[in-house]
Amino acid sequence: MLDYKNIRNDFPILQREVNGKPLVYFDNAATSQTPQQVIDVIVDYYSNYNANIHRGVHRLSQEATDKYEEARLKVQAHFNAKFSHEIIFTSGTTHGINLIANGFSSILKKGDDIIVSALEHHSNIVPWQMLCERTGASLKVIPMNKEGELIMYDYDNLLSTNTKLIFVNHISNALGTINPIEYIIEKAHQVGAAVLIDGAQSCPHIKPDLQALDVDFYVTSAHKMCGPTGQGMLYGKEAWLKKLPPYQGGGEMIAEVTFKKTTYADLPHKFEAGTPNICGGVAFGAAIDYMNSIGFENIAKYENELLEYATQKLLEIEGLRIYGTSKHKTSVISFNLDGIHPYDVGTILDKMGIAVRTGHHCAQPIMDFYGIPGTIRASFAFYNTKDEIDTLVTGVKKAKMMLM
Ligand SMILES: *Cc1c(COP(=O)(O)O)cnc(C)c1O
Repeated sequence: MLDYKNIRNDFPILQREVNGKPLVYFDNAATSQTPQQVIDVIVDYYSNYNANIHRGVHRLSQEATDKYEEARLKVQAHFNAKFSHEIIFTSGTTHGINLIANGFSSILKKGDDIIVSALEHHSNIVPWQMLCERTGASLKVIPMNKEGELIMYDYDNLLSTNTKLIFVNHISNALGTINPIEYIIEKAHQVGAAVLIDGAQSCPHIKPDLQALDVDFYVTSAHKMCGPTGQGMLYGKEAWLKKLPPYQGGGEMIAEVTFKKTTYADLPHKFEAGTPNICGGVAFGAAIDYMNSIGFENIAKYENELLEYATQKLLEIEGLRIYGTSKHKTSVISFNLDGIHPYDVGTILDKMGIAVRTGHHCAQPIMDFYGIPGTIRASFAFYNTKDEIDTLVTGVKKAKMMLM
């Protein structure tokens, strides 16, 4: 059982008010809130051992290096990567995706295919379009159905020996659909293609086992799982990371430099040019510790209860439509009120202290599929409550009355 009352006390921000009302934070798919346990680690870093890493022989540098590398081991253990050098610290999911897209520039050629899904975030579409422009490869898209699920029959038909890379999010940020990545990975490997999974939306809810998945690359951001912004990780199988060229040149990533030739550092440093977000890495480790102390099974079970409760209550409102109705989904509800612009509803909810996202959620193609400008998106975390959902339902009813 998840003790959400005590858990809420871990989050200072949940105690604040907005427009004179207690904050109801339902924008967790955009960023999660930060528990005191992680805030303390950030304060401790800057108060006690802030220094640059991997270079100094002095005490602070050694302490900072140890903590940073300890965090890498925590990430490795959490995601069950085979080696710690398969964990590359990045500034976030977007950075990880661009790193891979850049690396594949030297691998792809005209006639090759990249497959992405119809459920992608913009950050998952643009780098592949740029990569196709650079290399002459073609971009193919796995279509979706009305429930907001990817159509695996069409995926099977897109696959061929020309397919070199498949790129899919584990969970859609706009609709919450959990994609069948096990199937996608297995099928991709049958034609010799690599798979990159965007885990930005899955890691707050589930604990992926990267070796069991046999995935080639996996990226995520710390700030969606109780960690700080500007920090994330890229996992890559050792053989792939050795094969790909470095992304950025700079300090940390070289072994030897002369004006004739530079040799690159070993993994993971080859992909970590310049001074990284040291505090962010350490705090990412603390966020993982925090979430594991609550337990991902408890989190998933409780969030599912919130999802079912909110779905049922919202659907009682006449003229309310939910987008993304797959049986396999996480605690994200995208909805609209008949004839009312989502932005107007969001503004009224904000007056009541309720934070939801409105708009296209960086997923314009999904909105185009449904023929709508955007949705209102409420996304729940393990620190939310049924009482807060009641407040949302009351707020939506009120908005409907005011705007009809
Ligand atoms: C948030 C998100 C991203 C982008 O993450 P950043 O931390 O902004 O780089 C990418 N993909 C999905 C599915 C997301 O939800």
